[in-house]
Amino acid sequence: MAENKLGGQQYLVLPEGANRILGREAQRTNIAVGYAVASIIKTTLGPKGMDKMLVSELGDIVITNDGATILEEMNVEHPIAKILVDVAKTQDKEVGDGTTTAVIIAGDLLRNAGNLLDQGVPPAAIIRGYGMASSKAKEILASISSNVTINDQKQLEKIAQISIGSKNIGDDQTMKHLTDIAIKAVKQVATKEGEKVKIDKDFIKLEKKEGGSIIDTELINGVLIDKEIAHPGMPKSIKNANIAILDVALEIEKTETEAKIEITSPEQMQAFLAQEEKMLKDMVDKIAKSKANVVFVQKGIDDVAQHYLSKAGIMAIRRVKKSDMEKISKATGARLVTSLDDLSTEDLGHAGDVAERKISGEQMVFVEKCKDPKSVTIFIRGSTKQTADEVERSLVDVMGAITSAIELGKYVTGGGSAEIEMAMQLREMATDVGGREQLAIQAFADATEVIPKTLADSAGMDPIDTLVQLRSKHKGKSGRSFGVDIFTNKISDMEQLGVIEPTKVKYQAISSATEATVSILRIDDMISSKGSRPSGGAGGMPPGAGGFGED
Ligand code: ADP
Ligand code: MG
Repeated sequence: MAENKLGGQQYLVLPEGANRILGREAQRTNIAVGYAVASIIKTTLGPKGMDKMLVSELGDIVITNDGATILEEMNVEHPIAKILVDVAKTQDKEVGDGTTTAVIIAGDLLRNAGNLLDQGVPPAAIIRGYGMASSKAKEILASISSNVTINDQKQLEKIAQISIGSKNIGDDQTMKHLTDIAIKAVKQVATKEGEKVKIDKDFIKLEKKEGGSIIDTELINGVLIDKEIAHPGMPKSIKNANIAILDVALEIEKTETEAKIEITSPEQMQAFLAQEEKMLKDMVDKIAKSKANVVFVQKGIDDVAQHYLSKAGIMAIRRVKKSDMEKISKATGARLVTSLDDLSTEDLGHAGDVAERKISGEQMVFVEKCKDPKSVTIFIRGSTKQTADEVERSLVDVMGAITSAIELGKYVTGGGSAEIEMAMQLREMATDVGGREQLAIQAFADATEVIPKTLADSAGMDPIDTLVQLRSKHKGKSGRSFGVDIFTNKISDMEQLGVIEPTKVKYQAISSATEATVSILRIDDMISSKGSRPSGGAGGMPPGAGGFGED
């Protein structure tokens, strides 16, 4: 039981069985856990990075080299490990790519902070120094960036290729196929807001069906709906479709209150049913009058209404998700109608083709050949679920990279070159700052170099040797874009090799890594209630977790 001394008297503040680690000990433990988590995904960085296979309690298998996915699937329980998982998640959400980079840098920021703490540097000085370094790092990134716009197709292709190159997805042709689709999709949904280009990735729908092969993955200029046509009598395919989207139930609303209807004779029953049927027929007539030949309904469609719709030659799909309705609207120009009395020809959207097709044994409705759609679908195929899942993750990364490049309009060279440049300029700045913060800024610089070091390591090159060569090259004026050429095992000009990455991805990686590190360093008291364990035997941690590891 933890006790607290106050004014000479003792107060019991923590419940029975609570666990508490204080001060330096808490920091030491937390840093070790954070570093251990980052170390796990280190080997996945870059095109020579390896995959991880994760098996859940239920035996589901995930094979991936996506940092965010690995951390998520690991189901880490330690609170500090969770902070690092959040770094990956934030990176994924904000920019879509660079998750491994962000977590690895966070790991080294933590470890280097640990070393400074051991040397007696107070946490506050480290936090200040890291904050200064993080702002400066972004300035440096901006200063070494080049410009890119939505029209620079060649540059966008390179950025996409580098992003997908680190996923182990198929051969060159397959990767080219996927990156072409990703670029087209992003460009298609891009809208201009003044000078700025905005891209809402929510309007790139990713629909996945296992079966076929990766190369069958296609871009649909419109929306793919995982539903079937409501009635077998309806047309299976309609060219030049006029599309209505309805937030209306094509059913007779059942009365809420218990209105009793006395039916005493078969004639009365007949009349009652006829009345219902007429109401449903009226609904269908209103739809037909608008000249719609395809309707997507968010709610239900009564059997009788289905029958009349079939007779009118109208294709109908019911219980369509609200999010899909929005996408159909964006793709076809249809306006969502909430009352059939309001439905008119002006509300209809258009598509070159709406058709139901059988995919791997299931019916799906393709709304395609839309003219300049502001919402599109990428239909992902892969022979196994694992493959299709990894294709999806790769596409998310590539689309994130392209979007980041277009939105900020800047890119830097990769292969660790930008990180080396950051480190060198940060060290220069550190000497100007002086004091204890200087040490922290230097530690920050060392941490960014973990990227070229890890890339070199993955290629079987000597990391330290490579670092020395790169630093010396970067001292010269034309050496700025030299990085690790992992396919020839030497250092090369990354701009010439076409190894380029969006600046925004790097900004975000630095920000989230720094923020997570600082928030961990601020903790000097870990209190956990019975059952959870913040100390060494971190729940969910693999063996070997803890300890700072080698350089
Ligand atoms: P992340 O999750 O951080 O995006 P990746 O596994 O995608 O991690 O690896 C990205 C790193 O790999 C970047 O530092 C990038 O510059 C580097 N990289 C990618 N392709 C190459 C290449 N052809 N040569 C050298 N480095 C590369
Ligand atoms: Mg990547």
